[in-house]
Amino acid sequence: MTTKFISADPERFAESDLSDAAKAIRDGGLVAFPTETVYGLGASGINDRAVKRIFEAKGRPSNNPLILHFASVGDCNEYAVCDDRFLALADAFMPGPLTVVLPSRGNCAPSVTAGLSTVAVRVPMHPVARSLIKAAGVPIAAPSANLSGKPSPTTCDHVKNDLNGKVEFVIDGGACTVGLESTIVKLDPTGATLLRPGGITLEMLKSVLGEVDVAPEVLAPPAPGAVPESPGMLLKHYSPNAPLYLVRSDDHARLTSFFHEASMQPDNAIICFNGDVNPKNNVYYLGDRDDEFEHARRLFDLLRVADKPGIRRIYAPMPRREGIGLALQNRMLRAAAFRIKDI
Ligand code: AMP
Ligand code: MG
Repeated sequence: MTTKFISADPERFAESDLSDAAKAIRDGGLVAFPTETVYGLGASGINDRAVKRIFEAKGRPSNNPLILHFASVGDCNEYAVCDDRFLALADAFMPGPLTVVLPSRGNCAPSVTAGLSTVAVRVPMHPVARSLIKAAGVPIAAPSANLSGKPSPTTCDHVKNDLNGKVEFVIDGGACTVGLESTIVKLDPTGATLLRPGGITLEMLKSVLGEVDVAPEVLAPPAPGAVPESPGMLLKHYSPNAPLYLVRSDDHARLTSFFHEASMQPDNAIICFNGDVNPKNNVYYLGDRDDEFEHARRLFDLLRVADKPGIRRIYAPMPRREGIGLALQNRMLRAAAFRIKDI
């Protein structure tokens, strides 16, 4: 299949730029599109054949549910049972990088929920994503637009590398502004559980919901033999080919001297903060040390660019757990398959 590329600058695209892609969605096709979190690989959420194609294109296990994307909060209630807690979350954080797992009304394509009685719903903030959903006239089921197991795509080039020739359209809307997948919170009759941390932080969720449990898999590897609820809970996910090591120290000077030493070896790549190591081959920067939103934006791109042929090890700093740091730590632990180097 020849993939068609459409350019849609979020500041000045016209709705008509998206009409062919919206029609492709309605007709059962696959469209990769930008969102504020990462690029999504979308299909009509009410067409099971189309949704199954997402799993094929990504090489994604079929027992792994997808998020259903809507153009507005009001539309979610047609497919999910939206209670007051959902409405309070929606009031505070939607549209935005938040996904809520709710009881399903059972009317979306069965492959979207992988047979579960719950459905994950999200209203993206990205103007291109919202226009595409509106123009398609159906909710769009979408996981990240990467090959399963690879770092999520935050630019059109990442999508092209992974999915060229496998999808009808790719919409280029520039780099994603959050850079990590959406926060996922599950609302049960008994309480709320954070399944995946993201741009809407645990602290922000608690400010609306009061108590929020954190699923143990967020920061711990799954127990041996356990079948995790989602691939983001696997031991290894979002991974480069070269092994990634997270370097942990409470002394920043020790960390920078470790990175400096490691950067002398040509088969090492270093992902560090601005100023940690002088610029040279195979040294990449997450941004200023205290600018974690910038780290989030750059992380997945750096995991791809650092992973060059000839590189045998990638070193990166272990993030802290507060704010969006929890999401960074969650992704980086998986990318590193929990390899931590204490120094
Ligand atoms: P991705 O779009 O690749 O980030 O994956 C979507 C993720 O949403 C899945 O891997 C699950 O973690 C989560 N998800 C979707 N639907 C459900 C659901 N019904 N219950 C729990 N988690 C869900
Ligand atoms: Mg994904």
